[in-house]
Amino acid sequence: MAVIAVVGANWGDEGKGKITDYLAQEADFVVRYQGGNNAGHTIINEHGKFALHLLPSGVFYPRVVNVLGPGVAVNIGGFLSEVDKLAEAGVPAPTLRVSERAQALLPHHVLFDSLEEERLGKESFGSTRSGIAPFYADKYLKIGLQLNELFDEPLVRSRLSKALAQKNVLLETLYGKPPLSAEEIVTQVAGLRDRIAPYLADTTTLLLDAVEAGKTILLEGQLGTLRDPDHGIYPYPTSSSPLAGFGAVGAGVPPWSIRRIVAVTKAYSSCVGAGPFVTELHREEAEELRKRGGSAGEYGATTGRPRRVGWFDCVATCYGCRVQGATEAAITNLDVLGYKEAIPVCTAYTVGGAATTTFPVSRLLDKAQPVYAELAGWKTDISGARRFQDLPAQARDYVLFVEKHIRTRITWVSVGPRREQIIKR
Ligand code: GDP
Repeated sequence: MAVIAVVGANWGDEGKGKITDYLAQEADFVVRYQGGNNAGHTIINEHGKFALHLLPSGVFYPRVVNVLGPGVAVNIGGFLSEVDKLAEAGVPAPTLRVSERAQALLPHHVLFDSLEEERLGKESFGSTRSGIAPFYADKYLKIGLQLNELFDEPLVRSRLSKALAQKNVLLETLYGKPPLSAEEIVTQVAGLRDRIAPYLADTTTLLLDAVEAGKTILLEGQLGTLRDPDHGIYPYPTSSSPLAGFGAVGAGVPPWSIRRIVAVTKAYSSCVGAGPFVTELHREEAEELRKRGGSAGEYGATTGRPRRVGWFDCVATCYGCRVQGATEAAITNLDVLGYKEAIPVCTAYTVGGAATTTFPVSRLLDKAQPVYAELAGWKTDISGARRFQDLPAQARDYVLFVEKHIRTRITWVSVGPRREQIIKR
């Protein structure tokens, strides 16, 4: 009977989809509040294996109302193709409501994302080229289009001509490309708006009423603390805030209603995209962990790119949990470490010769060195464990060690990618 946020404590890909899918069994609403289809949540359940990008992870439960809040970047074509994929896999049609105040991510956002990454070359941000940064830039420059506005053609035309006045200068002079035509985009928009129309709703009133009625609402974060534009590894964050605090804004629920904040973390570290990553592994050690990680190795759910991997980082994760305001944590992928004799865990950094457990600013992170403690491995398959006491002592000690260092109680331990492979503590 509350709003519960499920958010990432690290760089993203922590297994939020699996935890949200599990908790959604008892939810009335599952809400995405930021980001777009630039990252993926992997879910394995009785219907099969799915990589959701824009759809909330409650879509497998017919009783759950799935909402895209006003803070989300809505790629209409991407949204509709995900809906189609669920239908093809035989999943009963989910209930989906998209905020009429959310904005449309349009093809030119994707174009500019790609052109800029190409222009930057070696200096690029490692963007998934889904148009997210140009989308949020336009939103805050006030030249974006809310979904409800797509139905007012003169308004679309006038907003686009304002936007294209600057975009076409960039296209022609910076990128050496032909200019965009407002009329072409007006035609594209007309095709898309009629297809999204059945899903549009005043989700703000819907959710405010749900809070008043004491419904259970899950806010599903994308990426994690370290990708937050203010608190993360600037200049390598995403372009919207993945924090639970922003959940109130991007979903449209009262801040006081968020009673539980579940920060999800992996039993080791993984990271897609560029930026400082203190415990990163390389060569064979990385390849081994990458191959064994997740449900099919550590490769991006949206891009298929190999994820960077490393040992568990207590400094980053403690910071990640505290900035999220975590009331509890979930640790996933504990089963993956079953191959290790001894497992390094980073408990501090040395920066400029001094040890610290406080997460430094990005400029100093590049120079930080990890300080490792070595914990005993359990060298066995734990994927069948369903109670904490069923785990080998070394695996329990690993969880308790991490719990102490991240200063957040671990209430969920995930021991496999499937829904039922979870331990509640
Ligand atoms: P999200 O974006 O935070 O939802 O994370 P992703 O879905 O991108 O990445 C998490 C990966 O770990 C996926 O491949 C999941 O199927 C997988 N996964 C989640 N929990 C577990 C677990 O406890 N054990 C294993 N082996 N895989 C897991």
